Amino acid sequence: MSTDHLNIEFKLHPVPNRLLTRNPPPHVNSIEQYKKLYEESIKNPTEFWGKLANELLTWHTPFKTVLSGGFEYGDVTWFREGQLNASYNCLDRHAIINPDKVALIYEADEPDQGRKITYRELLHDVCRFANVLKAHGVRKGDIITIYMPMVPEAAIALLACARLGAVHSVVFAGFSSDSLRNRILDASSKFVITANEGRRGGKTIHTKKIIDEALTECPGVKRVFVFRRTDSSVPFSSPRDVWWHDEIEKQRPYCPPEIVNAEDPLFMIYTSGSTGKPKGVLHATGGYLLSVVANLKYVFDYHEGDIFGCMTDIGWAVGHNFIVYGPLTNGGTALLFESTPIYPTPSRYWEIVAKHKITQFFTAPTAIRLLRKFGREYVDSHDLSSLRVIISAGEPINPDVWEWYNEVVGRNVCSVVDNYWQTETGSIILAPFPGATAIKPGSATFPFFGIDIAILDPETGEEIKTTEAEGILAIRQPWPSIARTIYNDHNRYLNTYLRPYKGYYFTSDGVGRDRDGYYWIRGRVDDVINVSGHRLSTSEIESALLMHPATAEAAAIGVDSELKGQCVHTFVNLKSDHDIEIDDLVSQVRESIGPFAAPEKIYFVNDLPKTRSGKIMRRVLKKIVDGQTDSIGDLSTLANPEIVNILIEKVKHS
Ligand code: AMP
Repeated sequence: MSTDHLNIEFKLHPVPNRLLTRNPPPHVNSIEQYKKLYEESIKNPTEFWGKLANELLTWHTPFKTVLSGGFEYGDVTWFREGQLNASYNCLDRHAIINPDKVALIYEADEPDQGRKITYRELLHDVCRFANVLKAHGVRKGDIITIYMPMVPEAAIALLACARLGAVHSVVFAGFSSDSLRNRILDASSKFVITANEGRRGGKTIHTKKIIDEALTECPGVKRVFVFRRTDSSVPFSSPRDVWWHDEIEKQRPYCPPEIVNAEDPLFMIYTSGSTGKPKGVLHATGGYLLSVVANLKYVFDYHEGDIFGCMTDIGWAVGHNFIVYGPLTNGGTALLFESTPIYPTPSRYWEIVAKHKITQFFTAPTAIRLLRKFGREYVDSHDLSSLRVIISAGEPINPDVWEWYNEVVGRNVCSVVDNYWQTETGSIILAPFPGATAIKPGSATFPFFGIDIAILDPETGEEIKTTEAEGILAIRQPWPSIARTIYNDHNRYLNTYLRPYKGYYFTSDGVGRDRDGYYWIRGRVDDVINVSGHRLSTSEIESALLMHPATAEAAAIGVDSELKGQCVHTFVNLKSDHDIEIDDLVSQVRESIGPFAAPEKIYFVNDLPKTRSGKIMRRVLKKIVDGQTDSIGDLSTLANPEIVNILIEKVKHS
């Protein structure tokens, strides 16, 4: 594969002076120190992670074996004899020393309605709610579905599950009742935690209504805990539904932590893969906690007194890591933001930064692109001098968007940390270190500790060992937070991640490595698309379209979008006796998956390009929509090549 394009000259951004001269200095403060630590972590992972695990976590029972198992059977374990409790690590050990330190800052939808919660208060709240769960029969190992707006009680719910050794399965509150139902059924959850309503961007979200719709076909759910976010009354189904506020009144504010094994699952989280069925990715307590606590400390250079502002939703892996487990395990102060970047005005983020003196600010490229469109005057009028590290993740950040973020938000004195990882990796794979790494905008730079990167030739599966390389991003050895399995489907786990290239974890992302060793993520090589940082599979959208009685065939593709990164375009072949409006199909997708998955464009067609075996060639559709009809590639495998010109005309005129 050609690598000529890898050595275009990029502006190299050195480590900002402000970080180099800071006291206390960054945890890693030179590229030599990074390289030394990285090498140690690869050559001797047992010693490296064993030492960090004792330094950064509190263990009830010490571990003896740091790492065992491997990729062949997917039987990786970290710290296997060790026992601990995640909520103890997040709460008690800090509440004992520093009870009045603020653990969570709740920035409510309406700017003046938030509050601050100290470690003592958070520990009490978590214990009370854990006792509620216990009183209703929740036990270690039960899977609890959480579907909540961004209120502190969402974090409390996660930590209360962790306190009991119950496994939380948070479903992003933007998912529809159908998606929610599928996830509840797949996890066989008997317990659901939710709210009567949510508030976001000045609007009301009818959370309980969505829950009720989902539960019409979930007879296994025996209890729904409902937090009252607004004053509105909602239908209540007794004895299934109970009010959060009534129940906590009955419980004392201490609940002993259930000591779990390091390999016991802490949580599962559903994510999209190449098939229509989302997979419940399971993360183990000890390894996961260690990786995220190490991420926060080293990649985001967390120091005592920092205020960590991650603007994402708790429903995504990034919210689990950088609103709850990362900051709290470090004894830090985290922000929990209920609103949107533009409510009530496009200054909202910057008002928050100034008001709470945020030191690390974390958002997604999609939000940066949106705010850039509104103009820098919304940023410039605020005091952002508290910021030291500004962070972006979830999707690629274009160099020009990176430059804007650096100049306008970071005022050229902050470290910009574009970090690459996946729900399944559980923690960061590639990222610069604020005090060590010179940055090429658009590159997530170098691997985190313990991440042994390999670039594979997609055709042969052979590793490309030259510095300059282009191929598939794979990882050679296990790291602590690697997902341990897919819930109830270990075979799918093996087939998806560990079998495609024997001896490696397969990321499904393409990557380039330039002559200086910088990594450039190229995007997915499977059928996963990324809309505003939300991961979707094309077949998930197609399945939703096919649920409409009028749809005979459907194909979905991801198309570049200035604002959302990618957006969804679909081609739909209707059954001959049906005639429907585009809006009907858009609603179908909104209802089946959620509003964020709604196609931006639907083309009605009479046929789709297919191979002789009937496989739809989405690659051809993508070229047509992208206007790259000159490079459409080999069509010899198409059963119906005549359709290509018909579709070109169709797309041109729509
Ligand atoms: P998710 O598991 O939902 O976080 O999605 C993971 C996918 O998002 C990865 O496989 C990448 O395709 C993409 N991704 C995440 N972070 C980045 C990043 N910093 N740069 C480029 N792509 C990213």
